Amino acid sequence: MSNIKDSISSGYYKEPVPHLTADSPFTSMMQRFHFAAEILDLDEGMFKYLSSPEKVVMVSIPITMDDGRIEVFEGYRVIHNSILGPSKGGIRYADDVTLDEVKALAAWMTWKCAVVNVPFGGAKGGVKVDPKNLSKPELERLTRRYTSNMFDVFGPDRDIPAPDMNTNDQIMAWIMDTYSMKQNKTETAVVTGKPIILGGSKGRKEATGRGVVTSTLAALSTLKISPSTTSIVVQGFGNVGSVSAKLMYEQGAKVIAISDISGGYYNKEGIDIPEAMHYSQTHGYSLEGFEGADPITNQELLELECDVLIPAAKEDQINKDNAPKIKARIISEGANGPVTANADKILEENGVMVIPDILANAGGVTVSYFEWVQDRHGYFWTEERVNRRLNRMMRESFDNLFIVSEKYSITLRQAAYVYAIDRVATTLKLRGIYA
Ligand code: NAD
Repeated sequence: MSNIKDSISSGYYKEPVPHLTADSPFTSMMQRFHFAAEILDLDEGMFKYLSSPEKVVMVSIPITMDDGRIEVFEGYRVIHNSILGPSKGGIRYADDVTLDEVKALAAWMTWKCAVVNVPFGGAKGGVKVDPKNLSKPELERLTRRYTSNMFDVFGPDRDIPAPDMNTNDQIMAWIMDTYSMKQNKTETAVVTGKPIILGGSKGRKEATGRGVVTSTLAALSTLKISPSTTSIVVQGFGNVGSVSAKLMYEQGAKVIAISDISGGYYNKEGIDIPEAMHYSQTHGYSLEGFEGADPITNQELLELECDVLIPAAKEDQINKDNAPKIKARIISEGANGPVTANADKILEENGVMVIPDILANAGGVTVSYFEWVQDRHGYFWTEERVNRRLNRMMRESFDNLFIVSEKYSITLRQAAYVYAIDRVATTLKLRGIYA
C-alpha cells in the first residue's frame, strides 16, 4: 500500500478545492479520502462519483433593508451525496464563505453521517453575509427569502438544514416556519437545531461534548486506562469544550488545563470545572481573569503532558510544527479539523491515538437525527433516552472503527474514512446508477 503522499499524486486524483492551502482542513480531508479510496481499491468511476457533489444550487437573495434600499446577497446549498438518505448539514452565514468551501464541508458531512450510521447523506449551505451588519428584521427577511429560494431543495425527505457558524435556533425556527407556510402545514422535521418548544430535541445542546466524552471513554478502555486516573487538557471552552470538560470531570478525571480565546489556564492539581463554567457564564463567556489556575498560552497548553488532549476550539491547531511536541496519549477531536493531515503521520509515529473529528464530534449530528425522528413521530423523548441512545451509537461507532483499524493496521482516522466510504460505495453498488 502506498502512503498518502504517493496516493495524491496518482492518476485520477482531482483537487476539488483548488484555492485552499496545503494545510487547510478540507485539503486534509481530501488527502484522507484518497488514502481510504486506495485501501478500498475503489475504481475510478466510484472515486469520481464520490468526489463530485450531487447538486449545487446558487441563489441571489434580494431583501429590502430597514432604510428602504434593496440589497442582494448570494446563497448556496450543496448536496454532496444522498445515497444513504436525505442530506443533512448546517447553514453558515459569513461574509467570506465560498462555494468551494461549502462543497468541501458538504462532503465532510457525508463521511460524518456514514461513520455514525445515521441514515443521512451530506450537505452544507452558506450565505455570503456578515449577520452582525443586519438588524433582526433584516436577518429574518434574508433567512425567509433564502428558504423560499431553496424550497425545492429542502424537505424532511430531501435535505435537512441545521445551524452552523453564525446561525442559531431562531434562524432554524424562521426556516421551519417559511417552509411550513409554503406547504400549508407545519413541517417541523425540515430543520434540526430548533428551539425545544418548536420540536427541538432535549439533549441537543450537550450532544457534541457528550459524544466526545463517550468516544474518549471508549478509547481509554481500549488502552485499559481508568477515567478516574486520567489527566485532561481542553482547548476551547465554548459549547463543545466546556461540556467535554464537565463530563470528564464528572467521570473523576483531573482536568489540568482549559483555554479559550483569552488564553490558557493550568492547574496541575486539577481545575474545578463547575466553578470555571460558572465563571465563564458570568463573565460574558470568557475565562479572562479566572483565578482557579495559572495563565499559560494556548500553544503551551497543547504541548502539556496529559492522557487526553481535547482540541475543541478551531481548525489547524496541531500541525507539522507542533505535532512532534505533543505529549498527550490520546487526542479527541472536539473541533472540526484541529489536526492537519501533515501532523497525522508525526502523531502516528509517536504513538498518539487520535479519535478523528468525524467520529468524536458526531454526537451533534446524531442527536439531530434523533430530533428528525421525534418530529416525524410527533413523539418526544426524555433527555435520559436521548443520552442513552447517543452513548450507544457513539460507542458502537467507535467499536466499528476500532475493528477496521485492527483489520488493516491503520489509524482510527484512516479507519473512519475507510468505513464511511465503504458504506456509501456499498450502498451505491446495491442501488445502482439510475439512468
Ligand atoms: P463555541 O463558539 O461555543 O466555542 C469556541 C471556543 O473556542 C470558545 O471558548 C472560544 O473562546 C475558543 N477559541 C476560539 N479561538 C481560539 C483559539 N485560537 N485558541 C483557543 N481557544 C479559542 O464553538 P463550539 O460550538 O464549541 O465549536 C467548537 C468547535 O467544534 C468548532 O470547530 C465547531 O465546528 C466544532 N463542532 C461543534 C459542534 C456543535 O454542536 N457545537 C458540532 C460539531 C463540531
